[in-house]
Amino acid sequence: MHALIDGKGLAAQMRSEIKQRIDEYKLKYGREIGLAVVMAGNNAASQVYVRNKIKACGEVGIKSQNYCYPEDIPQSELAKHIKALADDDNVDGILVQLPLPPHINADEMLRLIPAQKDVDGFSAENVGKLCTGKESIVACTPNGVMEMLRHYNIEISGKHAVVVGRSNIVGKPMAMLLLNANATVTVCHSRTKNLRGECLNADILVAAIGKAKFITADMVKQGAVVIDVGMNRDENGKLCGDVDFENVRDKCSYITPVPGGVGPMTITMLMHNTLQAAVLRRKL
Ligand code: NAP
Repeated sequence: MHALIDGKGLAAQMRSEIKQRIDEYKLKYGREIGLAVVMAGNNAASQVYVRNKIKACGEVGIKSQNYCYPEDIPQSELAKHIKALADDDNVDGILVQLPLPPHINADEMLRLIPAQKDVDGFSAENVGKLCTGKESIVACTPNGVMEMLRHYNIEISGKHAVVVGRSNIVGKPMAMLLLNANATVTVCHSRTKNLRGECLNADILVAAIGKAKFITADMVKQGAVVIDVGMNRDENGKLCGDVDFENVRDKCSYITPVPGGVGPMTITMLMHNTLQAAVLRRKL
């Protein structure tokens, strides 16, 4: 028997709570909350992501500014624009949509975003705070997973959590959040020996790999909580996760579907982080 974790429903509920808190913020401080979204070039997937982020801003009452620069913008010019947003008091959050065109050093551009406006939680300062257990802005996707676990009252403390994937945007911050919540955490990656054996030890298994239906039923312990971060296309072009959902679901106590699981939570957490950035800045 398994229970589905309804990310779509939780995201909708959280967005209405965030909207209410943003309305209160506006009344209290007499100002809007602003998110600047910067992109360069015509990456089709980025355009869809940015459109969805701007739409979500509209839903919760965040004032979004969308800056879309041509593919051949010189790095120095893009840097100038990002620095201006960093200095602009009306901008609470800055998001640079990746990937940037190949001639631009993305790390250098991200370093121009002050930690207080780093709503993606990618900056060294925010990552360092996360690792040392201090309040910080946390990367949206793993932050959304933690919200899901909290909402469904899934116990983390003392549990064995296995995170498959060690990217800076998902796997590593996910592992750190679970560790901070007192799980015993194993992080697996492409060089892990006996991945199946590691996964079979998981009370909580998080898949952030980027390979369609990679986690199969023989890798999942009976009664495990399975969180599927993956967003892939299957052989028929249908959206699917990193977990072989149909065959794994009956072994789980809880499982997230794809679509409708982690995905909708990610943009919601961006709204949450932008509000958090605005509040933190007023406290400084
Ligand atoms: P990534 O940067 O490509 O990282 C993938 C990780 O998986 C790497 O650490 C890699 O190991 C590991 N891996 C690859 N093949 C493996 C194997 N055979 N066995 C064990 N580990 C393996 O990807 P990402 O950015 O973290 O994203 C992961 C997935 O989540 C993708 O499908 C992405 O689209 C999705 N995603 C979804 C959301 C959302 O909102 N739902 C947000 C972000 C990402 P190495 O480090 O050794 O290479």
